[in-house]
Amino acid sequence: MAVQTVASTTDSAAGTSVDLGPAAALSCRECGHRVPLGPVFACEECFGPLEIAYDFSAYDTEELRKRIEAGPANIWRYAPLLPVPADVATKPNLNPGWTKLVKADNLARELGVDAGKLFVKDDSGNPTHSFKDRVVAQALEAARAFGFTTLSCSSTGNLAGAVGAAAARAGFRSCVFIPHDLEQGKVVMAAVYGGELVGIEGNYDDVNRFCSELIGDPAGEGWGFVNVNLRPYYAEGSKTLAYEICEQLGWQLPDQIVVPIASGSQLTKIDKGLQELIKLGLVEDRPYKIFGAQAEGCSPVSTAYKAGHDVVRPQKPNTIAKSLAIGNPADGPYVLDIARRTGGAVEDVTDEQVVDAIKLLARTEGIFAETAGGVTVGVTRKLLESGALDPSLTTVVLNTGDGLKTLDAVAGTGLTATIRPSLDSFREAGLA
Ligand SMILES: *Cc1c(COP(=O)(O)O)cnc(C)c1O
Ligand SMILES: [Zn+2]
Repeated sequence: MAVQTVASTTDSAAGTSVDLGPAAALSCRECGHRVPLGPVFACEECFGPLEIAYDFSAYDTEELRKRIEAGPANIWRYAPLLPVPADVATKPNLNPGWTKLVKADNLARELGVDAGKLFVKDDSGNPTHSFKDRVVAQALEAARAFGFTTLSCSSTGNLAGAVGAAAARAGFRSCVFIPHDLEQGKVVMAAVYGGELVGIEGNYDDVNRFCSELIGDPAGEGWGFVNVNLRPYYAEGSKTLAYEICEQLGWQLPDQIVVPIASGSQLTKIDKGLQELIKLGLVEDRPYKIFGAQAEGCSPVSTAYKAGHDVVRPQKPNTIAKSLAIGNPADGPYVLDIARRTGGAVEDVTDEQVVDAIKLLARTEGIFAETAGGVTVGVTRKLLESGALDPSLTTVVLNTGDGLKTLDAVAGTGLTATIRPSLDSFREAGLA
C-alpha cells in the first residue's frame, strides 16, 4: 500500500505537533472553512460544527481492503480511515468494535421480513456494553495528541461509563457529568472505574450547557470533553459501525438501516462512513436508505421530519429511553437532510412499544437490548407496518446498548412460579 499522508499541525493546547494519521484538517460543515487539527469544534467564521477532513488520495482500493482484512478484530482494523496515529493498536485502550452482525431470521419471521434479509448489529458486545466505546476510543487518541490529562463528558449514561473505563485503562484522570436521576445500572457502571462522577440537578441539555461553560472557564483547563471540544474526533468513531456492517455483509451496502437518534451524531457519521466506502471503491455504489428512531417522549427530530421542517424545535424529554433523551439534538438538522436525501424516514414509538420490542428481540433472537435497542426494533416494526421499510430488502437494525443497564424497563418480568422443591409442587404449578 502506498504510504499514507501524515498531517502534522501545531495545536493550541500543548503547542506540539500532532499525528492523527490520514486526518488532514478540520472543516466546517456549513461553510467549508478549514482550520488545522486542534481541540476546537465550532467554526470561527460561522459557528458551524467542525468535522474531520481527510486525505485518502494515496490509497489503492485492493491494498486497503487487504490491509483492513488482515487487521485486528476491533475498530483499529479501520485505522487508515480514522483520525488516529498509525501505531494506535499498540496504545492502551479498550479495543472496542467488531461486534456481531446477527442474522435475525426469527425476528424476521415475526415482523414479516424475508428470510435472510434482517440483521441486528449488536453493539452491546462492546467493552462497556454500548456503542459509546467506539467514539470514546477516537476522542482518547485526540486527547493524547493534544496533551490533555483529564477526560470528561456530558452524558445520558452510557458515555460516562465508556469515558470512565477508557480513562482508567489509559491512565487519565476522568470526571464526568450526568443528569442526577439516571438508571442505577448506568450510574454504577460509570462509577465503578474509579473516576469522578457528578450528578447535575437537571436534564441532559442542562448538563451539556454546564459543560460548555466549564470549557470556557479556567477550572476546565487541560480537560478534554470527548463530546464537546473533542467532538469532531469523537464523532468519527461512529463511522466504524458503517464499515463493520458493510464488511460483515461481504463488502456490500445494506439497503436499509435503522439507527437510534440522541444528538444525531451517530446517524450522520454512519452516512459519512458509507459514503467513504463508496468513494474508496470498497463497496459498489448503489442506493441505501437511512431511518432514524426516537422515543415519542423525546422526539424532536421525528416531529420535525413529519412536519416537513428543516429545523428541530427543542423538547423537554420524558421517556424510559434515557440514553436517547436529548431534547435539543445538535445534529438534528443533518439527520433530517440524510433521511430525506436517502429516501429514509424518522419515526418514533411509545415507551410501551419500546418495552414490547425489548421483549420481542429477547425472545426471538436471545439479545437483551437496552431501551435504545427497544426504540430501533419498535420503530422497525412500525415502519414495516406503514410500508416505509421494504421487507424484501437487506435491513440492518442497530442495538446500541445492553439491557442489563436498563433493568427497570422490564421490571414486570420475573419468576414464572415459586414452588416447593418437590415434584408434586412442580406438577401443581402446571409446569410438567
Ligand atoms: C449515545 C447513544 C446513542 C446515539 O447517540 P448520538 O448522540 O445520536 O450519536 C444511541 N444508543 C445508545 C445506547 C447511546 O448511548
Ligand atoms: Zn463555517
